[in-house]
Amino acid sequence: MSKLYADIIINISHEALDKVFQYEVPLPLCGEIFVGTRVVVPFGRWNKEQSGYVVGLSETPDYEEEKIKQIIRISTEGTSLEAKLVQLAYWIRENYGSTMIQALRTVLPAAQKVERKQEKIVRLLLSKEETERVLETARKKNRKAQVRLLEEMKEQTVLSWEMVAKKLKISKSTLDRLKEQGILEIQKRNLYRNPISFSISKEIPKKLNMEQQRLIDMFAHDFLNKNYKTYLLHGVTGSGKTEVYMAAIETVLAQGKQAIVLIPEIALTYQTVKRFYQRFGNRVSIMNSRLSKGERYDQMLRARDGEVDIMIGPRSALFTPFQNLGLIVIDEEHENSYKSESIPKYHARETAIARAGMEGASVILGSATPSIESYQKAVTGEFVLWELTKRANPGSRMANVYIEDLREELKSGNRSLFSRRLKAMMEDRLEKGQQIMLFLNRRGYAGFVSCRSCGHVMKCPHCDVSLTAHRGGRLVCHYCGYQVPMPKVCPECQSPYIGTFGTGTQKVEVMVNKEFPQAKVLRMDMDTTRKKNSYEEILSAFSNGEADILIGTQMIVKGHDFSNTTLVGILAADMSLYANDFRASERTFQLLTQAAGRAGRGALAGDVVIQTYHPEHYSIVTAAAQDYHQFYEQEIAYREFLQYPPVYQMMVVFIGCDQLDIGQAAANMLGKELRRQTADLDGYWVIGPSQATITKVKDVYRHVIYVKHKDYEALTRMKDLLEHYMEDKGIFEKAVVAFDFNPMIGY
Ligand code: ADP
Ligand code: ZN
Ligand code: ZN
Repeated sequence: MSKLYADIIINISHEALDKVFQYEVPLPLCGEIFVGTRVVVPFGRWNKEQSGYVVGLSETPDYEEEKIKQIIRISTEGTSLEAKLVQLAYWIRENYGSTMIQALRTVLPAAQKVERKQEKIVRLLLSKEETERVLETARKKNRKAQVRLLEEMKEQTVLSWEMVAKKLKISKSTLDRLKEQGILEIQKRNLYRNPISFSISKEIPKKLNMEQQRLIDMFAHDFLNKNYKTYLLHGVTGSGKTEVYMAAIETVLAQGKQAIVLIPEIALTYQTVKRFYQRFGNRVSIMNSRLSKGERYDQMLRARDGEVDIMIGPRSALFTPFQNLGLIVIDEEHENSYKSESIPKYHARETAIARAGMEGASVILGSATPSIESYQKAVTGEFVLWELTKRANPGSRMANVYIEDLREELKSGNRSLFSRRLKAMMEDRLEKGQQIMLFLNRRGYAGFVSCRSCGHVMKCPHCDVSLTAHRGGRLVCHYCGYQVPMPKVCPECQSPYIGTFGTGTQKVEVMVNKEFPQAKVLRMDMDTTRKKNSYEEILSAFSNGEADILIGTQMIVKGHDFSNTTLVGILAADMSLYANDFRASERTFQLLTQAAGRAGRGALAGDVVIQTYHPEHYSIVTAAAQDYHQFYEQEIAYREFLQYPPVYQMMVVFIGCDQLDIGQAAANMLGKELRRQTADLDGYWVIGPSQATITKVKDVYRHVIYVKHKDYEALTRMKDLLEHYMEDKGIFEKAVVAFDFNPMIGY
């Protein structure tokens, strides 16, 4: 039997991760030592006993054998938090492909010095009754800013300056006036480590309705019996999902355990977080990209030390080092941002389920439009399916949805961006002083070619994805390499109006200004939201009624209550339909459903106009009908037919290289090796290598190979074989290879 060597990290901090020491595993311990095992080793010149973690195992020593010391014993101290996180890192490394160091860096927070900062705060000096009286007067005199401020301060008597100035948009002069009248004072204080530090009065939980209560009873029953499961909560926006999360968290906290709540960064608004604070007070902490690295690290320490029980944050909050994790909630579980774009390309949903499995915790996934992956698992019984079928707020209604066929508009001579119906409705709302959102669907837009007369889109006959226009007049399929020359006229209707279709938000703004010169317009896109907080500022300006029309990309469909918005126009619904990506229909459905959900949330009835060249496409028809189940049935059949995830598992082998010929050669070598390895095995599909859709980024040439199989582990096996194959070949020092499983993006 050959010897076994273990790579051991003594000091498990982010900074020391590169310092791995190799030790020999004594024979009697061979079957008992795994990645993540805590061991005691002789360390340094004096061989002092130190404990460390095993992060890798191999049969070949990296040094002269005489110099390698032996592990003394397995540490008997109970499984520590770190051991669990090391095991999670190992799981990530195995399932998504990366080095152990990369995986550990993902899982362990980087230590950061925290600079203490001071902040300005505004404090209310009046009693509740006095505040009411002042509010009454302010309302009568129509002092809107005062009303806004006092309404907020009625609940929270201390607000940060930032909150007052940026979110509530209260001017300096208003504040000075209130100060002079002795209504409030302005002070400086040390910035508390908790990013939301002002006191919020607790709110009594809502009485759950029958649907909600049934789910929570089920959850509590499972949880108390240590039967930890994954639940998929499917419910339209406003059906009371957040109330269910909070009730489940309460059950978990009552057992002395902690909870992590993942929310996409873009939806991590003040309004969402506030509800958790109102319910759980200062046991809640939040993490987002607006916090400095130091502040984020601080939140991790607070969690580890038991100062907080609930962590709310985007993807990375999944690695919050709670000692006794009981629940992970993932809201908007279908969101792309849960997948990491850098190596390791882990998916927070799958990783959450893995972490929960290791630590004895439950998982709740929630969405109005669940991912096809999750819904399939719910249908097959791997997850527990929970459905909320009604809006929880009796006052709110679903909007009326109209589908407008843009081909008909062109036929009748209307070449404007706005269909006749949308234009008429916009005029009507402007007259009534109600607000309008115009939504431009640009996600996944990648230069597809379509006909403006008949809507025909140039597609690959083998893959059912749109072809991408390349310079030099060629159309290329990036899944299989199929090519055709760019047609001069539409192959369907012979119209000359065929070409790449692209409309930016800026262009829409120009058109709106031209057709509705009297309207005040706000625009939200990558250009206007580059600054910190500008995203929130634009949305709050709009919900404060500072504009009639908000134009935006998918960013505008999230968060905020726009109760005066009674019309949503979706200008070109098909734009995301022909991305070179098998998830194109799913994204379209999700975006349209969310955009439609924006209209008529208040007391006023809402209308939604979906403009499209493909009114018959199932993702548009089912989104208009707000019928998720119908959409799912069609989509899963499509995935099955074309062998895409989740029916088949897919691995992308991505090869990046600054020299085209070397990149190509490396890709060819990997393609050949994959074919050799899979030749005698059942169920594998190897597609490519081919150039990626975007052939070059920052002077790096990109190639891809797709491997499909019904079984995920069959793919990770191939990943392991390729990693091994690349080890001793110099070319892979120049060509960088990355793996992406069940990708969220088109390559
Ligand atoms: P979702 O998370 O599904 O969008 P929320 O939990 O935010 O739904 O609920 C939508 C609205 O309905 C909120 O204003 C919430 O306070 C209210 N609500 C939820 N559950 C109840 C309930 N059981 N009784 C009364 N109001 C409720
Ligand atoms: Zn045509
Ligand atoms: Zn093709």
